[in-house]
Order: sequence, then structure tokens, then C-alpha cells
Amino acid sequence: MTFLLYFLLQSTLASTILCLADRAIHQRPLFSTRSHCFSCGHNLSWYELIPFLSALFLRFRCANCQQAFGSLGECFLFELLFPLVMASLPFDFQTPYLLAYPLLFLAREDSQGMAAHTDFVWVIDSLLLIFQPPAFNWPLVLLFLLLLFFVLQESLGLGDLPVFLLSFLVFDLHHVLFLLFLASTSGLFAFFQYQHKKMPMIPFLLFSWLFTLLVFRFK
Ligand SMILES: [Zn+2]
Repeated sequence: MTFLLYFLLQSTLASTILCLADRAIHQRPLFSTRSHCFSCGHNLSWYELIPFLSALFLRFRCANCQQAFGSLGECFLFELLFPLVMASLPFDFQTPYLLAYPLLFLAREDSQGMAAHTDFVWVIDSLLLIFQPPAFNWPLVLLFLLLLFFVLQESLGLGDLPVFLLSFLVFDLHHVLFLLFLASTSGLFAFFQYQHKKMPMIPFLLFSWLFTLLVFRFK
């Protein structure tokens, strides 16, 4: 019963973050209006606001104009897996746990708009470097340079770089390796599954971030 309540709390929190991300993508006011379809303006009814189940029931389309607003993969990751994993972990104020929330925002933006407001992540990276400087680690530096090479090759977006750096700053080397392995294999799987020419990276980073938290039980 406690888990269910905790899951509902995390689910509501995730829904609010997703709603804010959707408004940011469509350049709408973040807080002033009721939830609505960005295509036809139809105000969402209460049953259209139930996380995961309403999207599944409506087949990821607006009930009024039938405009598609997501996919099964997105819905599964953002509205089911995210609250499920966060509800399984004890709530606390440690950095890796708390950063999952802004990552959800960025992953949704990246997934829906193929771009995300990751500029503020550079600020978090800088603050972490100043206040929680990690021990110098050659493998992590080389990994970061490799990612930088991929960005210069345009295989990765420049906006993905501060998010990768964030994982380097809050996790140890073997956690980072686990996270990168999971992000790249899940990304490759989705690439071959959906045959998309261009794919967002941050949703896969969020997916692997959640599993890193879960497997290594970060507090
Ligand atoms: Zn609509």
C-alpha cells in the first residue's frame, strides 16, 4: 500500500515535469493554462490526464483531433518506468537521485523535439566541479574526449555533451561504464527496431541512469 502511494506520488511528479517539457517545446506559458492538445487546443478531460493508462487507451493520439502525441516506447519510459524506479528507491537529497528529475524534463524535450534546453546542465556541471570535485581519473577523461570526438563528427549532438559530463561527475568509473553500455545498447536496439535516421540520445541516457540508480542502489 505504501509503495502504491509512493508510485502515485512519483507518477504525478513525472506527469507535471512532462507537461512542463511539452510546453517548453511548444513555446507555451509553463504555468498559466490547463493541460490541452497543442494541435487543436482541446482541454484535456480528467481521464486523459491519468498517466500511462490514458495514453494507452487513447492510442497516443488526441481524443479530439487524433494528432499523435507520443509512442509506446516514450510512454513506457516516461510514465511507467520512471515513476516505478523512483518509487522503488528511498527518497533522499543525494545528487544522482535528484538529477533524475531534470533529466526526465530534458529526455522528454529531446524525444519530442530532437533538441533540449541542456544549457543549464553546464551550470550544474560547473557547480559540481567546484563543490564536489571528483578525483582525477584518466579513463574518464579519455572517455569524455572520445565523446567530444563523436560530437565533432556530428554523431552526437552538442547538447548531449553536458549530460554525459554530468554522469561522469556524479558516478564512479564502473557506474559510468555500466551507464554508457546500457545507453548505447538500448539506443542501438531502438535504432534497428525503428530505423530512424536521427535519434535523440537523452531518453537513452535517462533509461540507463535509472537502471544505474536501481542496480547500484544509490541513496
Ligand atoms: Zn487535438
